[in-house]
Amino acid sequence: MVAATRGERIASRTRNPKWQHAPLRIEMSECINCDTCLRHCPPQFGAIFNHGIDVIIVPELCSGCGKCLPPVCPVDCIYEDPTWSPAPPDWWEEPLGPEDPYV
Ligand code: SF4
Ligand code: SF4
Repeated sequence: MVAATRGERIASRTRNPKWQHAPLRIEMSECINCDTCLRHCPPQFGAIFNHGIDVIIVPELCSGCGKCLPPVCPVDCIYEDPTWSPAPPDWWEEPLGPEDPYV
């Protein structure tokens, strides 16, 4: 099976309900850009990307599974997003839109 592109996966919006935890976010000021988390994010999610010199988690793809947390992340700079609440209906419309910072 060919892996879907990020856009295709976002568009399909299929996430097992048990994966619908709050997405995690990387605190850029603490991250040392080691890419370890990127290699540990399960391929079915593939939520971590290099974005320029930064490493970012795309929240729409993050399951909140925690596989990127310490000891994987050596500096413990991955946190739950405190602004997360159950996804609003328009939340999925943001990726790839004009306000998407990662396009
Ligand atoms: S919590 Fe899981 S899905 Fe989200 S970025 Fe970390 S490893 Fe990937
Ligand atoms: S494992 Fe931690 S320090 Fe390394 S790139 Fe990921 S978030 Fe940054």
